[in-house]
Amino acid sequence: MSLHGRADTAGPMNGLPDEYAVRAGSMFDGFTMSGPATVYVRRGRIVAVDRTGSPPPDGHVVEPGADACLLPGLIDTHTHLAFDCGTNPVESMAEAQDEDLLSGMRAAARTALLAGITTVRDLGARDFLALTVARETLTTPDAGPEILAAGPPITTYGGHCHFMNGEAEGRDQLLGAVRERHDRGCAVIKIMVSGGQMTPGSRSHVSQYGQDDLRIVVGEAHRLGLPVAAHAHNTEAIAHALAAGVDTMEHVSFSGENGIDEDAGLVARLGASGTFLSLTLGTHGTLPLEVQRHLRTRLDGRRKIHRALVELGGRVVVGTDAGIFPSKPHDVLPYSVEELKDLGLSPVASLAAITSQAAAACGVEGRKGRIRAGADADLLVIGGDPLRDPACLRDVRAVFRAGVRVR
Ligand SMILES: [Zn+2]
Repeated sequence: MSLHGRADTAGPMNGLPDEYAVRAGSMFDGFTMSGPATVYVRRGRIVAVDRTGSPPPDGHVVEPGADACLLPGLIDTHTHLAFDCGTNPVESMAEAQDEDLLSGMRAAARTALLAGITTVRDLGARDFLALTVARETLTTPDAGPEILAAGPPITTYGGHCHFMNGEAEGRDQLLGAVRERHDRGCAVIKIMVSGGQMTPGSRSHVSQYGQDDLRIVVGEAHRLGLPVAAHAHNTEAIAHALAAGVDTMEHVSFSGENGIDEDAGLVARLGASGTFLSLTLGTHGTLPLEVQRHLRTRLDGRRKIHRALVELGGRVVVGTDAGIFPSKPHDVLPYSVEELKDLGLSPVASLAAITSQAAAACGVEGRKGRIRAGADADLLVIGGDPLRDPACLRDVRAVFRAGVRVR
């Protein structure tokens, strides 16, 4: 079974017939906002979109109300379904048996889906467990979002997230790691170009791989048709990943040993590069004290750089890193829109960043992140106008995944 094909969801589902329409007072189609709209769904896909406001012909119509707004299902470009949102997710993962991790991942997937997040990229779980859950949500759309899984991130021996079992160094092992992920059905290659704060002994301001390593990984991944997501905190890692041609840059935090390493030239190159910048946004609640301490000297500088990237036309999307803290639950993505506005994105661009732009970043732009004939019927219906008030995104009226109404 292909993991990246369309879900075949023919037949009656959750009380809805094979064909139905969803009608709302306004619609954001992934690109622009418009007035009353009717979206026609058949067997899990959108077959037509009508913006004339005329009532649909006879047939089943879901009408969540004139104040409701239709959107494409949201897309989180960076999550960890296997992290439990606890105070020590690394230890929890180490202690958990596969079955425990799987049941946690299934619950996390369901949490995301009920918030209207219909696609996620899982950028790191132990072994290839994310593929198991990805297969389940593909055949059973109400089990969770479509999951674009990286499998275990490629990392150095003892490096960041080594406990997920994706260690590889040197040309042969790196090529082997990419090929194995491709053969098993992963949708993306994740590589830890720099260290990270949450792994004991690893540091985010230190690089793990050099440019030659990255060129090997990117070359082989692209030859096999897979995008590469690069975890890159420090300037050297960001510069090397950019030069190697990765598809999405994760975090982009410019972390130095004691603060932010400003590099205006690199910021300018990044902004103009067209590389997707997957910023780690979205927080609900208080960050752990240790993280607050780490961020204290960095947060303002990082925000300044991210604002500059937006101003330079950088292609910003949101990867929440859901799962790694209690303040990053698996349904945290809608909270990021307030932060996007703070970085200077317009309200429309902020919504596009978590729909159509995110779909492009993940290589699924034909099927996801848009309300267009031919796309998957992944839909979110909310109450109110999300351009005026981003908090409306959390007033969920209905969620559809591959045509199945899940909420
Ligand atoms: Zn992550």
